[in-house]
Amino acid sequence: MNGASPIADEHFRDELSNVDKKGKRLWVFPKKPKGDFYNYRTWFSWFLMALMFSGPFLKFEGKPLLLLNVLERKFIVFGMVFWPQDLNLFAILMLSFVLFIVLFTVLFGRVWCGWACPQTIFMEMLFRKIEYFIDGDYMQQKKLANQEWNTEKITKRGIKHTLFWILSFVIANTFLGYIIGIDQLKLLVQDGPLSHLGKFSSLLIFTTVFYFVFAHLRELVCIFICPYGRLQGLMLDKNSMVVAYDFVRGEPRGKIKKEVQADKGDCIDCKLCVQVCPTGIDIRNGTQLECINCTACIDACDEVMVKIEKPKGLIRFASINNITQGTKLGLNLRNGAYTVVLLGLLSVFFYMLITRKQIETTLLRTPGMLYQTQADGKISNLYSIEFVNKTFDELPLELKLVEPKGEIKLIDGADILVHKESVGKTSFFLLRDASEITKIATPVVIEVWSNGKLIETMKSSFNGPVLKQTN
Ligand code: SF4
Ligand code: SF4
Repeated sequence: MNGASPIADEHFRDELSNVDKKGKRLWVFPKKPKGDFYNYRTWFSWFLMALMFSGPFLKFEGKPLLLLNVLERKFIVFGMVFWPQDLNLFAILMLSFVLFIVLFTVLFGRVWCGWACPQTIFMEMLFRKIEYFIDGDYMQQKKLANQEWNTEKITKRGIKHTLFWILSFVIANTFLGYIIGIDQLKLLVQDGPLSHLGKFSSLLIFTTVFYFVFAHLRELVCIFICPYGRLQGLMLDKNSMVVAYDFVRGEPRGKIKKEVQADKGDCIDCKLCVQVCPTGIDIRNGTQLECINCTACIDACDEVMVKIEKPKGLIRFASINNITQGTKLGLNLRNGAYTVVLLGLLSVFFYMLITRKQIETTLLRTPGMLYQTQADGKISNLYSIEFVNKTFDELPLELKLVEPKGEIKLIDGADILVHKESVGKTSFFLLRDASEITKIATPVVIEVWSNGKLIETMKSSFNGPVLKQTN
């Protein structure tokens, strides 16, 4: 869906607003935004940033609230440890997340990008604010960029990029806190970088990447790199709510003249909406891939409308059908189908989460071995058993043979103790009287108990020579 106004020249879709005819990047100098939406966005961003920066320090029952240790493949969410064995849960959660994003985008466009994406929040609320503070508003920024390298420019650039780098270092540390946990991070700081050269080098690499993204790449991330942004064209339709210019009301645009012009629309072609845009586009051309729904143009245009005594909302959150036909946001067949599938996936996810086992056991009869005859004439099979302890406690485990009649003998004779958050393995013989064996393969049922509680019931089979025939 292009959502372009019928009067718009579609030629603009052939070129990018921030690239010149020779393919050279044109630096975007957005005018400092102000207005109601910007204020809401600022408050919301501070809330999200407070959450994000404090996240690694937050604990739940002594454990991190959120730990995403991809290096050791261990994840903690609200005190629950997830292991690679929980991949099925993770897959369903990811599917639900993707579907949620699709559904949300179909209904509300790219609101995530402008209001909640860490890239936009850091860029607009931290880095851009530092830039406005040091370099001034967009006109001063342009002037500074074009002037020769004198003391003023060197000083300003030096201070700005030093601050950018420090901020990138803080962000990289925060992300590292989510990966290795705050306790590990504190150790890293206490011991000094030389004691953890590998981790420190990774930290510097991440810092440099963040610095490069926020100091240089900027809107290019949203336009070219982010796959979500690239998929917008597939997800939006004429009922999607996006930041849109009401071309019915605004056109034909034209400068304000003293004499009343009955045929003129409300747009006075002041271009303020273009000047504030952080991706450098003209929203009056219609919905575009580059628009991150930051709402800066809504604020700018509302201010103009107030000044010229016209109703606010020439640029507003609206769908194309809302602008052309006055239809309201509603559920259509596609949205309804997405919602049903999403609810189904979430139900499966929560069911699996609730019924998820804290200890997972895998029982295997040792491959390649049939049976052994012991010195006392008993027939034995060798099994190996693996326990994944997902809890934060050490667990003593006990194996009880339910069927067939026989005896379990642990190889090392010791009790089974599985350390917290770890994987334990042991092997055992299942011994049976030869006279009891009536089948080549007899089903085996073994229960795993811990502290008087049944943890899991395992099934396998017992191989043996058939010495006694059944009737
Ligand atoms: S067009 Fe408006 S909402 Fe879209 S990115 Fe530009 S300023 Fe933000
Ligand atoms: S800010 Fe509003 S009035 Fe000014 S050019 Fe943009 S749409 Fe037209």
